[in-house]
Amino acid sequence: MRLVFIGPPGAGKGTQAERIVSRYMIAHLSTGDMLRAARNAKTPLGIQADAYMSRGELVPDDLIIDLIRERLAADDCQRGYLLDGFPRTIAQAEALDKMLGEKKTPLDVVLELRVPEEELFRRLAGRGRADDKPEVIRQRLVAYREQTAPLLDYYQEKGLLKTVDGLGTVDEVFERIRSILDEFAGA
Ligand code: ADP
Repeated sequence: MRLVFIGPPGAGKGTQAERIVSRYMIAHLSTGDMLRAARNAKTPLGIQADAYMSRGELVPDDLIIDLIRERLAADDCQRGYLLDGFPRTIAQAEALDKMLGEKKTPLDVVLELRVPEEELFRRLAGRGRADDKPEVIRQRLVAYREQTAPLLDYYQEKGLLKTVDGLGTVDEVFERIRSILDEFAGA
């Protein structure tokens, strides 16, 4: 199963992503985690990305696209994967389509985790990560609204989009996700 997971910061995407990859036994590709690891290791990519991340802005597309291209070639991705935090712009989505088209391994489904903005702000304010300062949170929500939300139409038009209500307990939300993904399991 090849899956893209889209949702604004604070939607609970990370928590649900963990559950999804363990139930369906697919690789978890989180660009946020990959960038944080690169930043901590002070690699050239990490150093470049850090400036954008600490402002709540998106890292330039070409850096992320190269990172994903390399990662998708790894053995553990051949049985399927969940893309978490990528693509985040139309340019990234187009680059992904091109990569997957060349390999003849199209996406099976794009899952949107939907949570109203007031609730997101409330959740993020209580989290305490370094890029969770109020003005940085606001910027991340703006980046989502302006750069990432257009992907929903993009994937809707391709007939790939499934939307899940992200309000409720972790178990309730996962149950909704499971009812959608079980249909694609084994693909
Ligand atoms: P969030 O909790 O906001 O969903 P992530 O952990 O996915 O955040 O990402 C943290 C930061 O890493 C983002 O604010 C952004 O600067 C950068 N980043 C992650 N994925 C991408 C991407 N696909 N394109 C550009 N920047 C990204």
